Amino acid sequence: MIYPHQCPGCRVLVQDHLHLCPECWREAHFISGCICPKCGVQMLGDHNDAHILCDDCLNTRRPWTRGRAVFLYNAKARSMILALKRKDRHDLVAPFSHWMLRRGAEIFPPAPLLIPIPLHWQRQWRRRFNQSALIAQKMARMAGIDCCLDGLKKCRRTLELKDHTAAERRKLLHASMAVNPARAGCVSGREVVLVDDVFTSGATFSEAARACLEAGAKTVSVMALARAAKPA
Ligand SMILES: [Zn+2]
Ligand SMILES: [Zn+2]
Repeated sequence: MIYPHQCPGCRVLVQDHLHLCPECWREAHFISGCICPKCGVQMLGDHNDAHILCDDCLNTRRPWTRGRAVFLYNAKARSMILALKRKDRHDLVAPFSHWMLRRGAEIFPPAPLLIPIPLHWQRQWRRRFNQSALIAQKMARMAGIDCCLDGLKKCRRTLELKDHTAAERRKLLHASMAVNPARAGCVSGREVVLVDDVFTSGATFSEAARACLEAGAKTVSVMALARAAKPA
């Protein structure tokens, strides 16, 4: 077989499973050019100043140092992420991880510790896996870097956040996450990179970063697959 792989976006046969077919490539909006150093969103302009933040990050306290995201959370990104989450398309983990490593390379510290954003155990039990943990694990294997899959844990269940404003999300998530006491020694003194599938308001990353910094992490950066537009 000459084309043994499927496009991660549409399953048409392609030569390389880590890349989208030309059609999907046009639909996915990979973030490039001028980006916000904190959240990785694409900004207008052509400056290359690593200190100019987007409006969102200017108006919201972000307890982490730097952040990146692979693509915008548009219809194409949503369908690919839902295919992994709901249709068990585990073949998507490799391309997602490859893209995140490439996008994150410029912000990764020399010896990062990857920690995925956890799901509450009930949600994970229903879904059977945590998509962010699968991605973090694959990134660690591909790049030969450290990963602590259960570094963070959800202390309580939080409601689905998608219908809430940024301020409401922060309130709902307050004190909802902690460093796993059994892993406190792994986090202390490390340069943590948090891994999640979708960055919406940043409230989840803020809560996770706070927990890591309280547990003695030296720095925290964040890495998302998709960056959603600012919620209402
Ligand atoms: Zn495709
Ligand atoms: Zn920003």
